Amino acid sequence: MNYIDIITCQPELLDSPLNNSILKIAQDKKLVNIKIHNLRDFSDNKHKKVDDYAFGGGGGMVLKIEPIFNCIESIKKEKKVDEIIYMSPDGEKLSQKTSNSLSLKKNIIILCGHYKGVDERVREHLITKEISIGDYVLTGGELPAVILIDSIIRLIPGVVSNEPAALSDSFQDSLLGYPNYTRPSEFNKWKVPKILLSGHQKEIEEWRLKKSYQKTKQKRPDLLN
Ligand code: SAM
Repeated sequence: MNYIDIITCQPELLDSPLNNSILKIAQDKKLVNIKIHNLRDFSDNKHKKVDDYAFGGGGGMVLKIEPIFNCIESIKKEKKVDEIIYMSPDGEKLSQKTSNSLSLKKNIIILCGHYKGVDERVREHLITKEISIGDYVLTGGELPAVILIDSIIRLIPGVVSNEPAALSDSFQDSLLGYPNYTRPSEFNKWKVPKILLSGHQKEIEEWRLKKSYQKTKQKRPDLLN
């Protein structure tokens, strides 16, 4: 079983995406255990405050180090943690390669920032990896965390019922995915390629590989390097 601990000051934002579809099934099948930690539960402040003004001014609140430290320590008491990830727009850009490697780790913690982000000392002393989902800025790390988690969980053996399907999606083997069709085989006179109806599996595989290659060359030639 893989364990993912998420640290957030907005746990409600994670409710729906983690409790539906494949992510829910993966938890029900006990292939992954996802635990949400509300940062406010680790605040010593009587109002459960987890943020404060930035030293030096400039506007925008910053998540304090103490509750984050307390929360990470409490998780570490229960298990050996393999990676402590901070979702951040200036982190390493998320790629299939990163998701593949994280899917092999047993215990990961994901810290979601908010406001201006976290006290820099958290990043300097507690975090082992920083991940961005792209060159744009969102209000909090919860949606980026869900994207990361989804990309990891679907790679865990047993989660997607048809594993070869997950492994033939875009970016595995540095190629984009091949085109897919389903019934009806003809709609509005638009026909499904004949080869897919032929039943010749080897030729279908060759056709799919050729299509993947053509699509990659056309849309993402950089991947072929
Ligand atoms: N001050 C930060 C900066 O300039 O990079 C931006 C903070 S952002 C408003 C608040 C939080 O949202 C971040 O701490 C991070 O956890 C999350 N976040 C926003 N955009 C993100 C992205 N592209 N990838 C990952 N996390 C992101």
